[in-house]
Amino acid sequence: MADAEKKETVIIGAGPGGYVAAIRASELGQKVTLIEKSDTLGGVCLNVGCVPSKALIAAGHRLQEANNSDEYGITSQGATIDFSKTQEWKQHDVVDRMTNGVSMLLKKHKVEVIQGEAVLDSDTRLRVMPVGPRQFMDNNNGQVIDFDNLIIASGSHPIEIPGFKFDGRVVDSTGGLNLPEVPKEFVVIGGGYVGTELAGAYANLGSHVTIIEGTDSILAGFTKDMVAVVLKQLKAKGVDVITGAKAKSSTQDDNSVTVTYEVDGKESTVTADYCMVTVGRRPNTDELGLEYTKVELDDRGLVKTDEQGRTASEHIFAIGDIASGPALAHKAFFQGKVAAGAISGKKTANDYIGVPAVCFSDPELAVVGLTESQAKEQGLEVQTAKFPFAGNARAVSLYEADGFVHLIFTKDEGTVLGGEVAGPGASDLIAELSLAVNGRMNVEDIALTIHPHPTLSEPVQEAADIALGFPTHI
Ligand code: FAD
Repeated sequence: MADAEKKETVIIGAGPGGYVAAIRASELGQKVTLIEKSDTLGGVCLNVGCVPSKALIAAGHRLQEANNSDEYGITSQGATIDFSKTQEWKQHDVVDRMTNGVSMLLKKHKVEVIQGEAVLDSDTRLRVMPVGPRQFMDNNNGQVIDFDNLIIASGSHPIEIPGFKFDGRVVDSTGGLNLPEVPKEFVVIGGGYVGTELAGAYANLGSHVTIIEGTDSILAGFTKDMVAVVLKQLKAKGVDVITGAKAKSSTQDDNSVTVTYEVDGKESTVTADYCMVTVGRRPNTDELGLEYTKVELDDRGLVKTDEQGRTASEHIFAIGDIASGPALAHKAFFQGKVAAGAISGKKTANDYIGVPAVCFSDPELAVVGLTESQAKEQGLEVQTAKFPFAGNARAVSLYEADGFVHLIFTKDEGTVLGGEVAGPGASDLIAELSLAVNGRMNVEDIALTIHPHPTLSEPVQEAADIALGFPTHI
């Protein structure tokens, strides 16, 4: 075995958790080494997740707007799409630009980046192996590193289900993002946020889409009222949403894939150009050599940590999709900063109450804090206030007046416990409610904050006015 090199802070994985932890650790004066097995930085989020999916969604919106602006007096001659150009734009102008940006940021912060697969040998030592099939890895091979501190941010991978091996016309979300053409027929198995976002994007790009969902509703985690707003628009796009359906098997030939599913004991089939399976993701914790350390996993394979991300092994931290909390990039960013701070002796801690979650559906859904029923389950006396986008001039002029802002607050003090936005700009508007929830603000703080007119932000203030018993535009 080669001689060990000594490093101060080592990070495994250059996704949102890892690269942000690296930057923060460097800002705090640590000497940082980042190990990434892929040949691009940015992890799932930048390469095959958040960023390219939003690019496809944006392309779908452009096409829809081009073809459906009659209300504005604009009639186009029938806009068409050259999808290979869309894909090229997504890769070069969006993904590559963002991943190169990460590379520049790491250089600026003097982070040493090593390409290879990190495998732990002990609580203080790892090896960086050349990337390749496991059977060709030689235990005596690779760069040996002794570390003072380690942050693991190895992310997650899509779950495969029986009968739907990712191959050919059965794809995971990565395959779904990189289809060579807009499918005429597209089947999505799993109506979570990833499935629903891409179903909407391809419907906007011209596909006929069928969503097959196992539970009785798509978008688990969002309230029925919020999901209803999205279902209305999916229906308008011609998307078939089949709930309570078990996807059983798939068969494919050169041109199509046929999916068999069962509802109430009755089997049916649907044939499509592609079938995308998005039924969740599993943490990448089984090939890291964690068994040679004191690090402990829970029954879902997530690493057990304290509120700073510290594992049962004192100098090893775990963040992002392999750690607790929602599997979202902004949570990974935050955990990365907390872990880097903890290594530098800062009194940092993760607090998940103010972590927003967004689905970039049509319209967008965004939530933060507690729902009304979660607050009640906790024995809190709560009130709620709701303002519809139909009463907002900006939403009406954008022709996007579906949805609402919903505030959940304590009955006595009016402390904001949670917020829900279903409607245009929800992904941005939720930041204000996250601030309110995080800052333990009350509805009066929001009502007394002058919001610009005419903007999509006003429904937040209007909902707060309703909460105080003084509604204006309703
Ligand atoms: P990852 O981004 O998975 O990065 C982990 C990195 O570690 C990878 O680069 C991997 O190659 C590397 N690695 C793994 N093991 C090793 C090893 N042994 N040695 C070296 N390197 C290793 N989240 C949002 O917040 N908003 C969204 O809109 C959103 N959209 C999404 C859309 C899709 C289609 C998908 C799939 C996900 C989306 N997510 C979104 C989730 C988000 O991408 C993840 O939560 C986020 O990427 C997790 O960050 P991470 O740093 O934990 O891991």
